[in-house]
Amino acid sequence: MGSPSVLGDNEISELPFLPEAAGILTRRGYALTIEELAEEANRNILISGISRVKADVIGDGGFQVPQGVQSPELRILSFVVASVIVKLTKNNLIVKKFALAEAKRIENFIRTIASSQRDSAVALLTLLYDRVLKMRLYRADRIIGSQLFEFKLRFQDYLTLATTINAPSWRLVNRVLDSGFVYIKMENATRLVRDAIARLIEDHIRSLKMVKAPQLLVEEAKKLVEETSEIVGSRGAARSWSVATNPEEYPPCIRSLLAKLESGENLSHFARFLLASFLINIGLSLDDIIRLFSRSPDFDERITRYQLGHIAGERGGKRYLTPSCTKIMSMGLCVKDESCDDLKIKNPIAYIHRRRKHRREEKTKHDTKAKGRRKGKGVPEDEI
Ligand code: SF4
Repeated sequence: MGSPSVLGDNEISELPFLPEAAGILTRRGYALTIEELAEEANRNILISGISRVKADVIGDGGFQVPQGVQSPELRILSFVVASVIVKLTKNNLIVKKFALAEAKRIENFIRTIASSQRDSAVALLTLLYDRVLKMRLYRADRIIGSQLFEFKLRFQDYLTLATTINAPSWRLVNRVLDSGFVYIKMENATRLVRDAIARLIEDHIRSLKMVKAPQLLVEEAKKLVEETSEIVGSRGAARSWSVATNPEEYPPCIRSLLAKLESGENLSHFARFLLASFLINIGLSLDDIIRLFSRSPDFDERITRYQLGHIAGERGGKRYLTPSCTKIMSMGLCVKDESCDDLKIKNPIAYIHRRRKHRREEKTKHDTKAKGRRKGKGVPEDEI
C-alpha cells in the first residue's frame, strides 16, 4: 500500500522510520551518508539530532526543531542523527527510552491534528496499522449510544493489541463488539499502535550498520551515557539496584518482572501493579521500590510515588493485596517452575514464606542426619 494521497511530506516526516520518509530525502536531494551528516556543513542537522535525542532520553520528549527550519527533511534527518547516537551508546535503557519517547511523539501528533486535519490523522493511522502492525484498521464512522466510533478492528487483532494494556476500559467486556469487530475511537486506535511503533524503532536502531562512526557522534553518545547515568543516579537508581532486595528468594514471576525492569523494558500496568504490591507487602520501603521502577523508560517519580502510595494504602487507607497466582496466570505473567509446584503456591507472597519454611525443614532434617552420622562414628560433639 502506498501512502494515501492526503498525506504530504509534512505528515510523512512525522514517521521518519518509514521508507516513504527516505523517499522524501531522495527527492529533496538529501541522500547523505552518516559520515556526511556529521560534517560542519550540516551543522543544523547535527544540532537538531542532538536536541532530539536529549529531549527524548533525558528530557520530557518535547522535541522541537529550531525555529525557522521546521522542514520535513530536517525532521527526518534529526531522527537519523538521534538514532545513530542512540545506537553508539550501546545502552539498552537509552534505546528503549528513545523509542518510547518517539512513539509517544507520534501519538501526540496524531491526537493534535485529529480535530483540525481529520483526514490526515485517519490516513496516518491507517498507514501505521498497515506498515507497523500488518493489520487492517477499518473505517467505521458509526454512532453508538451518542458516541462516534471512527474505526473498527477485527476481534482477534483487538485482543492482540489490548492485552498488553491492563486498564479496565480496554477489557473486551467494556468494548462495543458487533459481528466480529470491536469498535474504537480515534484516540483508542492511536494508543493501541504506540507500543508497536516503539518496538519497530528499537529494531530499526539495533539493525543500523556503521562501518566507522564519525568521532563527533561517538563523543555525543558518550556524553549522553554520562548525562543519563547522572539523572538515573540522582534518582538513586542503577547503582543501588539491589538495595534491600534479595531477588533469589522471590517467585519466578516476580524475578522475571525485575529482570525486564532491569533491562529497561516497559511493563504493562498489571505487571507494575503486581510488582509494586508484592514489594510493598514484603516490606520494602517506597523509596527502594521507586529506585527499582526508575529503570522504566517512561519513569516519572511523581506519578510512581503517588501510585505506590495508593497501593500501600497511604491514601484511602486500603492496602492492596498482591494478586493471586490464578489472576497472574490469566494475565499471562506466570512463569512458574517446579519450585512453585513443590511449594503448592496460590499467591506469590506465600512463595517466600513457604520457601523459607521449606529450607528450615530441610536444614533441620540435614542437621539431624549429620548428628546421627557423627554419633555413629563416635566423634565427640564438642569437637565439631
Ligand atoms: S505459580 Fe504463582 S508464584 Fe509461581 S510463577 Fe506463577 S504466579 Fe508466580
